[in-house]
Amino acid sequence: MTLSSSAPPSPPAEAPGARPRVLGRYDTGRPGPTVVCIGALHGNEPAGLSAISRVLARLRADDVPLRGRIVGVSGNRRALAEGRRFVDRDLNRRWTPENIARIAQGTVETAEDQETRELLAVFLPLLRHGPVSFIDLHSTSSLSTPFSCMADVLRNRPLALALPIPVVLGLEEVIEGSMLGYLCDLGHVGVAVEGGQHDDPRTIDFHESALLLMLVAAGSLEPRHVPDLAAHRARLAAGGDGMPAVCEIRHRHVVRSEDEPFVMAPGFVNFQIVERGQVVADDRRGPVRMPETGLMMLPRYQGQGDDGFFVARPVTRNALRLSAALRTLRLDVLVPYLPGVSRDPNRADHFIADPAIARVAVKEVFHLFGYRHERAQAEQLVFSRRSPAARPVLPAELAPLLRASEESTEG
Ligand SMILES: [Zn+2]
Repeated sequence: MTLSSSAPPSPPAEAPGARPRVLGRYDTGRPGPTVVCIGALHGNEPAGLSAISRVLARLRADDVPLRGRIVGVSGNRRALAEGRRFVDRDLNRRWTPENIARIAQGTVETAEDQETRELLAVFLPLLRHGPVSFIDLHSTSSLSTPFSCMADVLRNRPLALALPIPVVLGLEEVIEGSMLGYLCDLGHVGVAVEGGQHDDPRTIDFHESALLLMLVAAGSLEPRHVPDLAAHRARLAAGGDGMPAVCEIRHRHVVRSEDEPFVMAPGFVNFQIVERGQVVADDRRGPVRMPETGLMMLPRYQGQGDDGFFVARPVTRNALRLSAALRTLRLDVLVPYLPGVSRDPNRADHFIADPAIARVAVKEVFHLFGYRHERAQAEQLVFSRRSPAARPVLPAELAPLLRASEESTEG
């Protein structure tokens, strides 16, 4: 049989023996928060799945009177079966409203489109019933101490700051189309945890400890339900010892296909201080240098993906408290009155800054208010932020999936 060359590529079928999409649920019928724990959104990062299974087994074995519910979910099952980061495309880079609309309407072009559709089918019934906290467990190709990442909206802070490990702000904002970025824009809570190196057995331990601490912070568990809570906190704290408590992403080095082969210089680890100008990688055009002095984050030592590395810098706890206070007081209404700053006429929550006028620490001021998404547009800088909306919304693009799920439950 020959396939017509115009036939759309069909996504590969699941490998036999693949992990179930829903790893497990734990719900004792008591009212409380809904927490979704996801592992292996990147298929070469199975440590999170092991940790989720461990925590679910522990809750069941101890018959813990959990409030609300926990759902454990497998991320990229097709890539997981092949031990790769992804099959066709990075599953954590395509969660834009346009792509989600296409996938919800049934146009599935890649293995990861199918994964996205299946994940949405699990999330959708939960998203309809109020705010959901998403905990997304990852691991890294380089040696790393554990850290968390979150979009800089206040509702994300209680979960992330419950962990005695560094919080990295702004990673979700410099990456287009992350799953948590999309869900956060719908008004939900999302925290990602990078537990350590992919195959380091401690990574599973760190994820387990992080999950238990966040379940307590979310109100799902009471401290007395986790008698070894102090040991879990100590285990994580030892892993993150000596690291800055909070960092913000300043720069993302994008690897375009024409830059390949991109090869990181050996030996870089997360949070390593690197001087401006130091050669950190080589690509087709020659040496790649550090654009500013800062902390090396997520150097790419696996072959896939267009994130070469990130540069972060520490944020003080005081700056974090100040930004929370300013936002609670809603002083962000003053942003358009800053010199050289104007509101984007077409998009709410987007501001345009003229660097020639707004030269005094304009980036810092925007960051205080959570505006971390920064794009150069002509001579100007455009800033936007994740939705600070308190109440989640179900967007129009998910309507076809919602109808499909209602029909399947009726029939
Ligand atoms: Zn990952």
